[in-house]
Amino acid sequence: MKNSDRCSFCGRPRKETNLLVAGADAFICDLCAEQANLIVREELKKKGDFKLSKSKLLKPIEIKQFLDQYVIGQDEAKKYLSVAVYNHYKRLLQPNTNDDVEIEKSNILFVGETGTGKTLLARTIARMLHVPFTIVDATVLTEAGYVGEDVESILTRLLQAADYNVEAAEKGIVFIDEIDKIARKSDNPSITRDVSGEGVQQAMLKLLEGSKVNVPPQGGRKHPEQKMIEVDTKNVLFICGGAFEGIQKKIAQRLNTQVVGYGASKHRDQVDNNNLLQYISPQDLRAYGLIPEIIGRLPVITFLNPLDRETLRNILTEPKNAIIKQYEKLFDYDEIKLEIKPDVLDYIVDKAIEFKLGARGLRSICEIIMIDAMFELPSGKEKEIVITLEYAHKKLEKANIKRLKAA
Ligand code: ADP
Repeated sequence: MKNSDRCSFCGRPRKETNLLVAGADAFICDLCAEQANLIVREELKKKGDFKLSKSKLLKPIEIKQFLDQYVIGQDEAKKYLSVAVYNHYKRLLQPNTNDDVEIEKSNILFVGETGTGKTLLARTIARMLHVPFTIVDATVLTEAGYVGEDVESILTRLLQAADYNVEAAEKGIVFIDEIDKIARKSDNPSITRDVSGEGVQQAMLKLLEGSKVNVPPQGGRKHPEQKMIEVDTKNVLFICGGAFEGIQKKIAQRLNTQVVGYGASKHRDQVDNNNLLQYISPQDLRAYGLIPEIIGRLPVITFLNPLDRETLRNILTEPKNAIIKQYEKLFDYDEIKLEIKPDVLDYIVDKAIEFKLGARGLRSICEIIMIDAMFELPSGKEKEIVITLEYAHKKLEKANIKRLKAA
């Protein structure tokens, strides 16, 4: 080896390296070899992540147990999600037998008020999946040719999640959030076109049905010069979520008309008016403005419960990455022990309910209570902080919590 030899990858001369390994026609330095090793390991891991094998699949009950660690309550939705994911795996693993029984995919729709855990469920399931997964927001979608994104951009995201491995992406799962935002805006055809409503639903239909779609690899608008990647959505599982604000009225209307006649009073007694979403049916979605073809492609409909006081209280402390646990960890970093009195937690829940902030509000309220301590304590000598009801009261009053309401 000569002194003038250089690493063929980074170009460093031999004397600037710790070690220069010679190959047939090239050299590699220790740093580049290490980096190459890292890349190889990462790539192989990615490939392995998307490899399905029956033995490593969790059963639905185990999937639900996993979800339980992060999401409080919502048992019904968790059950549906666990089964949907498990069946998705089964469909992907089904052998090519000639028995004519082909397991078809069953996309699912979650209906639940905002802040009840739809996106959290999707994010949580993503942690344990063996297939590419992406969350997209339907609000940005518009009909082709208008300002916004084409529905094909949904698949761009999936491709990105699969690291452009088309075969893997074709077995992936897509969570489409806020699907209610593409409902038809009104029953009357108006002069202005409904470019983010029915048009998008029509375009989305072909994705949900399963077809070969040309996808712009970098997303955005399609344009003629761009090279497209063909993705077959036959095996892509779609999970949709939406708040469908106001749909309760349509459900109530339907229930009321149904209960006329024989057995009516019995039925009426059973209706829980505080949680009408549990009675949701395809008919209500149609009345809300989803086209029947889309509803037909979402054969499994399930719901999330509104969060009651007890659930909110549990959300503060129970999940694996509960808000309170996060604050404890933040203080622990400076070796400060954080203690929050139980009545403070009840107070936070009360305020979240009083100001109709839901679970999202829990964090904002905590943040107001904790901000001064987080600002001052790391520079001080105190190694312990106790948050009492009086302390919390003071901080919230000072901050004027009402401003949270507008957010
Ligand atoms: P949605 O998608 O239904 O509007 P999110 O899933 O985004 O609501 O919930 C907002 C936040 O509220 C979450 O990040 C989480 O911190 C909290 N949250 C809501 N529901 C739950 C729940 N069931 N269990 C635990 N945390 C929840």
